[in-house]
Amino acid sequence: MSESLLEVKSLKKYYPINKGFFNKAQGFVKAVDDITFSVNKGETFGLVGESGCGKSTTGRSLLRLIEPTAGEIWFEGQDITKLSMEEMRKRRREMQIVFQDPFSSLDPRNTVQRILEEPLIVHGVGNAKERRATVERLADVVGLAKVHLQRYPHQFSGGQRQRIGIARALALQPKLIIADEPVSALDVSIQSQVINLMQDLQSEFGLTYIFIAHDLSVVKHICDRVAVMYLGRIVEITDKNKLYSHPLHPYTQALLSAVPEPDPDIRKERIILQGEVPSPSNAPVGCAFNTRCPRVMDVCRNLRPALQETEPGHLTACHLYEGEVKSLLA
Ligand code: SF4
Repeated sequence: MSESLLEVKSLKKYYPINKGFFNKAQGFVKAVDDITFSVNKGETFGLVGESGCGKSTTGRSLLRLIEPTAGEIWFEGQDITKLSMEEMRKRRREMQIVFQDPFSSLDPRNTVQRILEEPLIVHGVGNAKERRATVERLADVVGLAKVHLQRYPHQFSGGQRQRIGIARALALQPKLIIADEPVSALDVSIQSQVINLMQDLQSEFGLTYIFIAHDLSVVKHICDRVAVMYLGRIVEITDKNKLYSHPLHPYTQALLSAVPEPDPDIRKERIILQGEVPSPSNAPVGCAFNTRCPRVMDVCRNLRPALQETEPGHLTACHLYEGEVKSLLA
């Protein structure tokens, strides 16, 4: 059985909507609304969904770059939501992030040498000579030359800048890397290079990834298991083969029906969803997907479906798969 590295329990991130003379909270934007999942050591766990579904907020909440409103985040058996800021800063050595936009995530005033050395200085790792050697090794690992270290971010292409971002995330030898849309801003030709690099580094250093993306073809390539998010909630989790061959949740089925099929002999029926994604400040009662679901039932408008195991290793939050409803439909 796989050993879990991270366990997330009932995580919530709500933003108050303050209004009126006294600036009182009149409601909440529920960016992440009670999600539970675990990530095994050495796996790549995908978080997918349309923009605004809460996947990036989840990634940042896991590192406490933004503070969760409620819930538990167990990393190697320790609930890191209980740590003080100083304790969390130390723990972050083992949990790093790669940002979506390599153009703005690197300080333009610093050389690559300085950018890669900074995390080592902040965490008091090594003396100047040892840090220089580490930086050269990091550059080498991500395919940059020694001469690149004295250059500034604007002197690199998008793909090279993302390599710098990955090298910076690796500097402290983390166990977990949260990659937040790491290839979305790159040309398609460069995307595969960065993905291949991430896979090579994973086997070399035994890394665990949480890979956040909206592009389901990229996710299929790199992830072992995938969680699909809709309006701040997880609606389905399973391994990628099951997800792509046998999606259960109506939202996942619609998302996957829009992914282009490279084999011209395979014809797919596209499921067109009606209506807009509701606002996370005013999510529908019951199942959050009930305003757009082609299979909506009365119960969906009243009762929020729990994420539960519908088949071994396959979790779905949908009333279609709950015992009582299933027998009514049979
Ligand atoms: Fe559709 Fe109901 Fe399932 Fe929600 S719970 S996805 S509305 S069938």
